[in-house]
Amino acid sequence: MRKITLLVVHCTATPCNVPLPPELLDRIHRQRGFNGCGYHFYITTDGDIHPMRDIRRTGAHAAGHNACSIGIAYEGGLDPAGKPADTRTPEQRETLRQLLRTLRQTYPDARICGHRDLSPDRNRNGIIEPSEWLKLCPCFNAAEEYADITAQSET
Ligand SMILES: [Zn+2]
Repeated sequence: MRKITLLVVHCTATPCNVPLPPELLDRIHRQRGFNGCGYHFYITTDGDIHPMRDIRRTGAHAAGHNACSIGIAYEGGLDPAGKPADTRTPEQRETLRQLLRTLRQTYPDARICGHRDLSPDRNRNGIIEPSEWLKLCPCFNAAEEYADITAQSET
């Protein structure tokens, strides 16, 4: 197994009122030239988890960080008008938290972050600030929301 140091949370950046079935997500990523879906897990608005890529395989979701990470995406991230928003349903929130907790137990060295937190720290102050975000993905502060899980040490 490869070494996992990051659990990266994404949104699909699609309008939350337009369904994106796992098969379509897979097809879109293949059309982009990926060898299958770039994320390892996909959580649809109903809260179901869809395994998309074997976690032993390197993903295609966070440039420069794929080798040591697992990518998890929730369906949505844009409001019906197409504006970036935290569109997670209660079911998605619950599933996402549970999945991260489980993965963290398997990979106790892994830190949880959002895709936007992997943007370059251009002013080198050690903080990835909103002005430095290359993307808004996943449209909420994943590092902060799941800080309690990242802080848990293995017993
Ligand atoms: Zn992303």
